[in-house]
Amino acid sequence: MNKAKRAAIIAGNWKMNKTPKEATELITAMKPLVKDADCKVVLCVPFVDIDAALKASEGSNIEIGAENCHFETSGAFTGEISPVMLKEMGVKYVIIGHSERRQYFAETDVTVNKRLTAALKEGLKVILCVGELLEQREQGITEELVRMQTKIALGGVSKEDAKNVIIAYEPVWAIGTGKTATSDQAQEVCKIIRNCVAEIYDNDVAEGMTIQYGGSMNAKNADELLSKVDVDGGLIGGASLKAEDFSIIVKAASK
Ligand code: PEP
Repeated sequence: MNKAKRAAIIAGNWKMNKTPKEATELITAMKPLVKDADCKVVLCVPFVDIDAALKASEGSNIEIGAENCHFETSGAFTGEISPVMLKEMGVKYVIIGHSERRQYFAETDVTVNKRLTAALKEGLKVILCVGELLEQREQGITEELVRMQTKIALGGVSKEDAKNVIIAYEPVWAIGTGKTATSDQAQEVCKIIRNCVAEIYDNDVAEGMTIQYGGSMNAKNADELLSKVDVDGGLIGGASLKAEDFSIIVKAASK
């Protein structure tokens, strides 16, 4: 596999953090720190921050994403936001299937597939999250699990549309816990995912796909994780809330 063939992407996931005013302040602080990045820089922010984030990032290399979207275009889905709404605002990316959505909001592989398909239809780029629980790793089923999540999520997605999918391997036990996967563990599973994508489509799609690692990536461990051949970037939670730390990770991906 040739890492140079695909874009490195560092994406922040702010989760339920930052008001619009705070979003403007954080992006204003980040802009000069990441302006020379030799990778894509994306910030996925809460729905209410999108407008402020788009304005604050104008004219910079920071692209804005959302953290979820519904699978219908409109209708009786109180509290939900559709891909067409995001698209019209100027959003470029959307995270789908984050483990916190799966864990707390009854997201399943099937609804992940529906949301992903709907987002791609609107021309959004999708950051699809897959990853195992600690218990599943201990049972030795990480490989089966991430392959199943990947296959179901990409069910019915054309080869052309798959080019707008980024996969984030996020071991659930490493998210927000300060317990990072070792770089070898990250590499092993990112490679499993890439092989699975090659099986579904072909080598070209697999080689071109950006596969990120996410789970307590920070300013100290980013270099080592990103040095691995199948780790093409990171999905960053906690460390994306600090301009300096996030910019160090962006620099690590730019080497
Ligand atoms: C995430 O929310 O996707 C994530 C990886 O969080 P953290 O970096 O805080 O573990």
